[in-house]
Amino acid sequence: MDFIDSHAHLTDPAFDADRDELISHILPAAHIVKSVEIGCAPNEWQPTLDLAAKYPQQIVPVLGVHPEYAPQFTSAHLAPYQQFLASGNVSAVGEVGLDYTCLDVSDKATQHALFSQMITCADQAGLPLVLHVRRQGEDYSAYTDCLSALSSWKQNTSRPYSGVLHCFCARYEEAKQALDRGLLLGINGCFTYKKNEYVREAVKKAGADKIILETDCPYLSPQGKRGTRNDPSNIPLIAQYVADYLNIPLEELAQKTTQHSKLLYAIP
Ligand SMILES: [Zn+2]
Repeated sequence: MDFIDSHAHLTDPAFDADRDELISHILPAAHIVKSVEIGCAPNEWQPTLDLAAKYPQQIVPVLGVHPEYAPQFTSAHLAPYQQFLASGNVSAVGEVGLDYTCLDVSDKATQHALFSQMITCADQAGLPLVLHVRRQGEDYSAYTDCLSALSSWKQNTSRPYSGVLHCFCARYEEAKQALDRGLLLGINGCFTYKKNEYVREAVKKAGADKIILETDCPYLSPQGKRGTRNDPSNIPLIAQYVADYLNIPLEELAQKTTQHSKLLYAIP
């Protein structure tokens, strides 16, 4: 049974002490065959590519600018970014999107301008999008705004899936809008938290054919491991929660989600 962590941040300093041990030994032991590494600020791009170059069999690089870091992206970053995307070494554009929980450091206008620039970059490079969208309490307007920003998205990629709504933690209403745009849902520790029954119900309605598994490590450890550092070896634990809730065999969930991650990120 093989798994893929479709969204991780292994270049985070939280892994400085044991990154090599983790990638060389702990991931293979947990049947994690690939880990998609998200470099989501300009200063993370090169370290992300370096990690992928060091572990070409395991690490799949994705580059973007997280909405919280939008102010860090200047016009000087655009050309090098487009070159990275055109190099053929990068599997998607992300994580990019809208997040109104961090407006104190990244205002709406800056986020929207960057997001539309990133959508254009993805289309130009023929790459899928890894979307970060976050509700603010009961305010889901970031989702509505994201969907309207995506109206300019040409989905110019030859992949069977043109994007993923990563860290899905919303209602079926939002899931449905994402699925209607041909997006997958990225499922992580949020699915396992006691208070998130509405997330589980939304995922059940979406079904196992519309989801991929992720950790978003070092954040969002699944239930039972909360408060500790998350890492890709927790994917089987998240998978077990999902398989139990959807009432399907773990093997079937592993097979489907691994296949969908491969199709999304063009992993051979
Ligand atoms: Zn992330």
